[in-house]
Amino acid sequence: MSSTSVRVALGDRGYDILIGPGLVADAGRHVAERLPGRPLVVLTDSTVAGLHLDPLMASLRASGAKVLDPIIVPSGEASKDMGTLAGVLDDLLSRGIERKTVLVALGGGVVGDLGGFAAAVALRGLDFVQVPTTLLAQVDSSVGGKTGVNSRHGKNLIGAFHQPRLVLADTGVLDTLPRRELLAGYAEVVKYGLIDRPDFFTWLEANGEKLLAGDPGLRAEAIRVSCEAKAAVVAADEKESGLRELLNLGHTFGHALEAEAGYGTALLHGEAVSIGMVMAFDLSVKLGLCPAGDAARLRAHLSSVGLPVTAAHLPALVPGGDWSPGNLMAHMGKDKKVKDGTITFILARGIGQSFRQAGVGMDGVGEVLRGSLG
Ligand code: NAD
Ligand code: MG
Repeated sequence: MSSTSVRVALGDRGYDILIGPGLVADAGRHVAERLPGRPLVVLTDSTVAGLHLDPLMASLRASGAKVLDPIIVPSGEASKDMGTLAGVLDDLLSRGIERKTVLVALGGGVVGDLGGFAAAVALRGLDFVQVPTTLLAQVDSSVGGKTGVNSRHGKNLIGAFHQPRLVLADTGVLDTLPRRELLAGYAEVVKYGLIDRPDFFTWLEANGEKLLAGDPGLRAEAIRVSCEAKAAVVAADEKESGLRELLNLGHTFGHALEAEAGYGTALLHGEAVSIGMVMAFDLSVKLGLCPAGDAARLRAHLSSVGLPVTAAHLPALVPGGDWSPGNLMAHMGKDKKVKDGTITFILARGIGQSFRQAGVGMDGVGEVLRGSLG
């Protein structure tokens, strides 16, 4: 199977996303084609290093490039912080980077966001290449140029827009990804169908389980459509003034659940988004905007692959949490989208027909939360 590609059309900062098997082992050639003669340095995490770093290093070295020693951070969200960033910057400078050095981020969204931000600020800006190794990173975080780290005040509050020069989405590396992580990324894949691609949603109903089970051709196709969807939105609205907000479908509810669960492994982001998308559809039905059948179809598909669709199990999963609708709505308030007792939501008139709605009253929101908690 050969690779396919998607172009992110941002003028002279535009770039290709290559998608297919074997791209890690062929990374040296692809990087050298676009960024010839440049010194390279790889950033990865401790889990991915054990699985996929050797073939990447071998490929980069075989291209003839000068390759510095890799930088390895502990795996997990905790590495997306200022302390780790400072360590990475210090490592980069200790290795003698120059302005023309290219940072290659091999890993999931954590390494991509951390590495992208390090690249944005080291020597006032290095080029960087994303080699995403989770499904979530391949369909979402590696595309679009948002980079950054977390603060004790909240997630992703410190960062920069810094577009990569190339994205290599190797479908083969997903074979080592735990099913739960794969599913979390799949929730974001489903989201693109829900936003404005109803035919893609129908395709996922037919092919979702097979691609999750490992079919490489179907995987590549789902990643291609997802990247195309995200690339189209990013090209139209790079810095999130309007259209890009649609990508937040399911995220306002999802973030409230995540905030209460604590960002970590009790509830993965994609799991929160899965529940959140169902809540957004339920709210749309409640407001008389969306046929109940579409919400039922969404629920059926997500649960058929094994994604959570209600918040009912969260209290048991995260004991001691305050899962009352009032508290969850307070989390939404901190999400800065609440104004005068109303909130801006991404709602839907049906599958593939999402839109931004300001002025949604909190009463309906509370009812949906109460219903989901069971
Ligand atoms: P992650 O990077 O923590 O990866 C999840 C886990 O899988 C980690 O333990 C990692 O070590 C492991 N892993 C990665 N690749 C593997 C592989 N091929 N085989 C086995 N294990 C592997 O998390 P994620 O879900 O990829 O990304 C989440 C992060 O992405 C969050 O910090 C989120 O804020 C960010 N994000 C950013 C954007 C953006 O636009 N920049 C968009 C969405 C999410
Ligand atoms: Mg998301």
